Amino acid sequence: MASIRPLSEITSAMTSKEAADIALVTKAYEFAKEAHKDQTRYSGEPYFMHPAEVGFSLAEIGMDPKTIAAGLIHDSMEDAGVAAAIIEKEFGTEVLFLVRGVTKLGALRYRGLERHTESLRRLFAATAEDIRVLIIKLMDRLHNATTLEHVPVAKRKRIALETLEIYAPIADRFGMSVAKMALEDAAFPHAFPEEYEKTRELLKERKNETEKRLEKAEKDLKRALAEAGIREFRTEARMKGMYSLFRKLERKEWDIGKIFDILALRLIVPSVSDCYSVLGIVHQQWRPVPGKIKDYIAFPKPNGYQSIHTTVYTGDGGALEIQIRTESMHREAQFGIASHLSYKEALGYAEGTRGGSLEWIRQFIPGRSRRKMAAAALQEQTGRTVPDWVKDLALAHDQDPQSGDYLESLKKDFFSHRIFVFTPKGDVIDLPIAATPIDFAYAIHSEVANKMAGARVNGKMVSLDSTLRNGDMVEIITKPSAKPSRKWLDNAKTTMAKKMIRAALAAQKPGH
Ligand code: MN
Repeated sequence: MASIRPLSEITSAMTSKEAADIALVTKAYEFAKEAHKDQTRYSGEPYFMHPAEVGFSLAEIGMDPKTIAAGLIHDSMEDAGVAAAIIEKEFGTEVLFLVRGVTKLGALRYRGLERHTESLRRLFAATAEDIRVLIIKLMDRLHNATTLEHVPVAKRKRIALETLEIYAPIADRFGMSVAKMALEDAAFPHAFPEEYEKTRELLKERKNETEKRLEKAEKDLKRALAEAGIREFRTEARMKGMYSLFRKLERKEWDIGKIFDILALRLIVPSVSDCYSVLGIVHQQWRPVPGKIKDYIAFPKPNGYQSIHTTVYTGDGGALEIQIRTESMHREAQFGIASHLSYKEALGYAEGTRGGSLEWIRQFIPGRSRRKMAAAALQEQTGRTVPDWVKDLALAHDQDPQSGDYLESLKKDFFSHRIFVFTPKGDVIDLPIAATPIDFAYAIHSEVANKMAGARVNGKMVSLDSTLRNGDMVEIITKPSAKPSRKWLDNAKTTMAKKMIRAALAAQKPGH
């Protein structure tokens, strides 16, 4: 039986050492401990073990004291029957808001799937106001997913599937790769037991050989770097997650010999220019596999990920993936948005990151005056306060009254099929795949969109129904006389654009 995480471990994981912050977290810890004192988990362990772990994870990824406190008391209302008024009185409105956001709906009003999807909708609506709600929910789900073996079988499978289909992709979208892999690997054996076994067997056969190759490559590379006069670096072996390996095996006809990144070698260096120097040394040492060199430093992934990846032939008939990055890229690659929400960052002494990464998300986080000002300025310019995909999640509520449809569209539209396009100023706009310039225009500002007369993509005029592609630079051309037409409704893909077009069309009707 595992033991309850002691308060001292949570407070020492906290970034802030200020007395008031420690006091708040301490109070939340004692409060939740008391609230859950008569409850147990499926495992028979004290219930409080769960919120204590959630609070600890939040502290570990560097969240602020209020988020940690909310994580500790996140189940006090739902599972221990504590009244909202009491939480508000003891911890304030901000903590109450966070707790409410992660609280599932009452079992009396909704049942089964309906209750479940309503809870998801509420979660996304709260997230649209404050992204920290979702971070708490992810840590909550993470702990639940790692303790699934105690949950009754029928429920276990549903939780596992939902973790793979909804929560892990959200973590991925937020660049939280550590959380994503942990969620996937905790859920995988329960969601697909047979495939899990098959993957495990294949991996077992390969593991020794791959480990030996990595060890030798690491030694050779350290020598080559030393000879080139590069002294400041560290290496790390990265093991591919089991679920991620399974997905890749499916794409490669279950031929594990075709997968070169089961183990990857990471090189972490002080600066961006070191990254490129090291890449040169790696390619002098081993011949790179053509077409496998990816520069995510110059071209970050949509979720902000930065690194250089290359796969090299190691001379023993095999190949090895090598990832090169700086410390700050490494931290961001692991914790994603959480690394930007961290207390350290808010205090202003964290390393700066270049534009094009997750920088833009910081502006959506309420709570600190600097961010509030940035968010207000941004809203003035663009009408946006949260990433559009989060807003769309909340809006989809009006669109699909059928619970099943809502879940399906969540899985299909929001998580697997998104593109990122750019304004002429270089701002990132997040849209579903197959989005058109119409969606783009409404994502920028409805006033701009309602006066849209044409669009340029990468400098060329295109029709308004053309399909945008990842990385496109889009410019909207307006005319005072232009106005939305019925056809736009068919060509728009996002809920938000359709809603705004309908409103504009209704306003055009005579008599209005
Ligand atoms: Mn919970």
